[in-house]
Amino acid sequence: MLKNKYDMVVIGAGPAGLMTAKTAAEEGLSVLLMDMKRDIPRIDRSCCTMLINEVSTHGDNCSIVDNNIHYEKLGLKVKYTGQWAKLEQSIRITPGGKKLIMSNPNGVSIAYNKEVLLRGLLEDAEKLGVDVLTETFGLKAENIKKDEVRVSFRGNRSRAVKDVKCRVAVAADGVNSQIVLGLEAFRKRKFFITFRVASYFLEGVESPFPPAFIIFVGRGHTPDGNGAIYMLDKHLADAKPGDKPIIDLMYATPVIKSSNKIGIDNFLKNGKFSHWFRSAKVVHTAAATLNFYTCIQEPAEGNIIAVGDAPSFIETYCQGAMMYGYKAGKVSAQHLKTNCGYKEYTDYWKKTFEYCWPGEIEKALKGYGIGFLNDDEIDYLFGLTDNEIYDGYVSENTAPAVMKDAFMSKMDRVKKERPEIAEKFLKFHQSNAHEVLEKTK
Ligand SMILES: Cc1cc2nc3c(=O)[nH]c(=O)nc-3n(C[C@H](O)[C@H](O)[C@H](O)COP(=O)(O)OP(=O)(O)OC[C@H]3O[C@@H](n4cnc5c(N)ncnc54)[C@H](O)[C@@H]3O)c2cc1C
Repeated sequence: MLKNKYDMVVIGAGPAGLMTAKTAAEEGLSVLLMDMKRDIPRIDRSCCTMLINEVSTHGDNCSIVDNNIHYEKLGLKVKYTGQWAKLEQSIRITPGGKKLIMSNPNGVSIAYNKEVLLRGLLEDAEKLGVDVLTETFGLKAENIKKDEVRVSFRGNRSRAVKDVKCRVAVAADGVNSQIVLGLEAFRKRKFFITFRVASYFLEGVESPFPPAFIIFVGRGHTPDGNGAIYMLDKHLADAKPGDKPIIDLMYATPVIKSSNKIGIDNFLKNGKFSHWFRSAKVVHTAAATLNFYTCIQEPAEGNIIAVGDAPSFIETYCQGAMMYGYKAGKVSAQHLKTNCGYKEYTDYWKKTFEYCWPGEIEKALKGYGIGFLNDDEIDYLFGLTDNEIYDGYVSENTAPAVMKDAFMSKMDRVKKERPEIAEKFLKFHQSNAHEVLEKTK
């Protein structure tokens, strides 16, 4: 039975929404959490679910210790009881098998399981008295009075629109946020592109590498040369200690281009590395559609706050979604007690979320692909780094620079042997975000 009015209504029960709801309930607020999914922890949306353990990722240092995800600076521990795998290498491999490998003693990231994470957060939220509405689609949040927000929603199978009042509403409905569409701040966002992703969870893959995150660079991996294929070792939700990880293989491509299923099936059967997959069995599939927008810099409007991917450029990662959810829960509780506003949350977001900073989007996009070179040129360039290991992590914000520096250190040789590649490489690194996307489509 729903209340007439809540202190907080959260739309979306991913890591951001669950963490906001749990934190607000711990602070004594009455909370309603709604999600369009029937089974909130079930994962049908593609996500590598790597914890980026590089120091200062989103301004904090994260690790998994004793069944908890630790945030050193926030002093936060989030229950995580599943298996996890330390990924030893981040590998970019060309159609000709040439590589650029990053590694470091801490591992390049930690692959964990999102379903286990969400189940733990949901359990905690429900124990704290959060009301949970499943199969419910949030439509809109409106500031109707100085201290009152109306949230409209409908059941997944119903056209009847209902509403509920609250003192603060939280848009935690992910990267394609419906709620953010209704905010003034949405109009200031710049749109880049829509990507879709398909994922296969595979057992029985014979990769020659240790547990790793592998990006298959170059156009020769898919029939029409579009998009990016990558894979990592990770555990299923029901994995036991000592179980071998499975492989999560993903194909991401601009939405107007080729079919993800045809691309991924072709890669498995006819790709340059099909021998790794000859005995592989698909045990689960997932997919995602991603709209790339610039970040919302001021993610609080009246008493509506956007957290996690909703105000972000593509992704905050699960670890970021939880950080911002935690902060939003705390600051909202404080605001409802003292009317202090959401500045602390907004400042934290702008200070710690890298994609809010000038130049970060360009930097990350440059790391996604090197689509400005053909496969012969890519094989040549990666041939120069094939026998070396570079210090680095999986992070979108730092790995592109490691890659760039690795190639720059070879540039004198490239200029002599293949001046046309040197010229393209240097020109690419002067491009802006839109030009990079055009070249990497
Ligand atoms: C291909 C890919 C790889 C990734 N790899 C990693 C990685 O390695 N590590 C990592 O940490 N992160 C990774 N991410 C990003 C990660 O998935 C997100 O950053 C994180 O899930 C964001 O959490 P969120 O709670 O903001 O959004 P989401 O997890 O998207 O949750 C949003 C929730 O809102 C619900 N919802 C959506 N719209 C509505 C609506 N209108 N009404 C009600 N409910 C709604 C959805 O059902 C969902 O439960 C990856 C993402 C993709 C696509």
